[in-house]
Amino acid sequence: MLKEHIKGDVTFMYATLKGVQQEFVFSGAMKSFHARKQQLEKLKQMLHQHEQEFLRAVNKDLNKQEAEAFMMELGTVHAEITHALESLEEWMEPVNVKTPVTHTGSKSYLVNEPYGSVLIIAPWNYPIQLTFSPLVGALAAGNSAVIKPSELTPHTSSAIAAAVRATFAQEIVAVVEGDAKTSEALLKQGFDYIFFTGSVAVGKIVMKHAAEHLTPHTLELGGKSPVIVAEDAKLDLAAKRIAWGKFTNAGQTCIAPDYVMVHESVYKDFLKKLKKHTYNLFSQRTKEGTFTQIVNDKHFDRLAAFLNDGEIVLGGQSSKEDRLIAPTLLTDVDWDAPIMQDEIFGPILPVFPFKSATEVLVRVRSLPNPLALYVFSEEEQTQKLYTEQLSFGGGCINDTIMHVANPYLPFGGKGPSGIGAYHGYESFRTFSHQKGMLKQTTAFDMPLRYKSGKVMNKIIRS
Ligand code: NAD
Repeated sequence: MLKEHIKGDVTFMYATLKGVQQEFVFSGAMKSFHARKQQLEKLKQMLHQHEQEFLRAVNKDLNKQEAEAFMMELGTVHAEITHALESLEEWMEPVNVKTPVTHTGSKSYLVNEPYGSVLIIAPWNYPIQLTFSPLVGALAAGNSAVIKPSELTPHTSSAIAAAVRATFAQEIVAVVEGDAKTSEALLKQGFDYIFFTGSVAVGKIVMKHAAEHLTPHTLELGGKSPVIVAEDAKLDLAAKRIAWGKFTNAGQTCIAPDYVMVHESVYKDFLKKLKKHTYNLFSQRTKEGTFTQIVNDKHFDRLAAFLNDGEIVLGGQSSKEDRLIAPTLLTDVDWDAPIMQDEIFGPILPVFPFKSATEVLVRVRSLPNPLALYVFSEEEQTQKLYTEQLSFGGGCINDTIMHVANPYLPFGGKGPSGIGAYHGYESFRTFSHQKGMLKQTTAFDMPLRYKSGKVMNKIIRS
């Protein structure tokens, strides 16, 4: 019936879709724990049932290999669903809060309610994870959702559309495939919540649309995430963890290390170890052609130009035909070089020596707030110095990117790297409007509020 409804021009179609979803949510159909649990279980089952199609699709789009694709795409969504299923009943409980003496006779509590029909706009770099992880939160909070996958990973986009259509009624989850034009047409509809993951430039466009309708929104953006290696760091382990975090998915990870600053006293030693681990972890895959591809020619050309921005100490090989760039380490990079102007988002890693902590603080602060920051040091004082004096979305001490996979940690940026956060309970909160409620007694009526302000003010001041 719905399919007949949504024939016609796209504006009418999207408006109808949103309307049908809102009607469904506001009918109370998603109010109970059991209704939400059922949808989350459906999602889990869908991921299992269509696993092979998803893995084939990300392989075609990005040359992602099965083991990595499962861990980084499907595995993280499974973990989010499992965590939500275990915790949802508790999250949904109203929370009692304190009530001041001025309100004697009443009690206060918080109630979470769904926003309604949520629009999820996804990027291409982890096209499955970044479509379905937000969906877990949206469903857990009792919303319906319209998903717009990235057009730059077309096989994954159509695999997502097919799986969702085979699993969910459109009033619960629907997929609209398309490019920027489609995305903008959807944004014009004034959904009840917008969840956007993507670039800073498009984030600003999304925020303008949200302003037009005063739509609450989350922006999960990017940025230049620094790694700081202090002189007392365990260099070999640091190098291994940095190489893995950077070159997984060919550096096309929003929280991938963007550049490394190493204390000058250990710079040479660290560089040697970084070369060794990068080579050990990825050279075989580069030779076999199983290293993740660059998503398209435009990004390939942008990245290939960065290879001229410093001295190549490892890698540097590239093939435009296969859209492959070998994991590359660059030294002697000028801070004003093009590679240092924007998020790299590819398998090229500039490494800089530093003399003092002040130099690191000044450098990192001169760039927009990053999405992540990583500090390698054995000293608590040094760890605190960088993590407390610098501003960033989230991060790790003595590791890279692992914080993203902990559902107990909120994940999001700050300002230019994002607004809002999700994962685990934070996803439930993000996709719920929290009502503050006061329940007053009718057994008696405190006369205070009707008296002159003087008496009331005296109580408040006491
Ligand atoms: P993008 O901003 O180009 O595209 C993201 C989505 O927005 C796509 O679905 C696209 O169709 C849509 N879009 C593009 N132009 C639009 C427009 N004018 N109006 C409305 N929608 C539009 O980003 P991308 O290239 O797909 O992804 C890479 C970026 O995403 C990087 O900057 C990366 O750091 C960031 N990212 C952030 C996170 C995070 O969790 N914070 C995760 C992954 C990627």
